[in-house]
Amino acid sequence: MTTKIYATDAYATDMQTQVLQTDVDDGRVLLDKTVFYPGGGGQPHDIGTLSIGDDQLEVVRVTADADGVWHWLEGSLPSAGMTVHGTIDWNRRLKLMRTHTALHALCGVIWNRYQSPVTGGNMQPGEGRLDFDLPNWTADEIPIVEALLNEELAKRRTIQVSFLPRDAADVDPSLIRTKVNLLPKGLKEIRVIDIVGLDRQADGGTHVSDTGQVGRITIPKAENKGRGFRRIRIRLGDA
Ligand SMILES: [Zn+2]
Repeated sequence: MTTKIYATDAYATDMQTQVLQTDVDDGRVLLDKTVFYPGGGGQPHDIGTLSIGDDQLEVVRVTADADGVWHWLEGSLPSAGMTVHGTIDWNRRLKLMRTHTALHALCGVIWNRYQSPVTGGNMQPGEGRLDFDLPNWTADEIPIVEALLNEELAKRRTIQVSFLPRDAADVDPSLIRTKVNLLPKGLKEIRVIDIVGLDRQADGGTHVSDTGQVGRITIPKAENKGRGFRRIRIRLGDA
């Protein structure tokens, strides 16, 4: 099983580790520990490089399964037992962390103003979208929500990562709107991301450590997806 460094330290950019298993057919290796996020919860997987001695291989894809985290490589694969050094594309990841954090802040702002839960979402480095059930929404709300969101981000709210036993998470009312019930049954421990005072969610992704690092956000548009569902798009100010 791979130790998931990204789950406890989102700012770790590289690691020295060992190859646990090599899958020649798929061109991928399982590593003992990793800083590479395998994707999930709308956040894309990391990309980067793996160095073995003087050789450098591109990590083009990262996935996770019951065995751990798989790194899909371009080139000839290192063998099990070899020591490798991995580095993520940090510029891209930091943009994803800022975008991901902005989306959580948007959840908090929408919840506080309308008590509407999020129903879906996705992101790329620098921009993202969330879907909400917002029957009484009009386009006049866009600048208001944008201003509220930037106000909250400017408060430099701390973002805390913690782990809750599954049964405690199941009965935590503040986590219900993030649909803990939809998480896989086998999950014994729930990772919780808390933008202190604004939004608390069960989440596997990577986030910045305070909302001030997100910078300013714009909302270029909100689309009507029918039956009261709205898709709100956000963009980092420097994206
Ligand atoms: Zn999230």
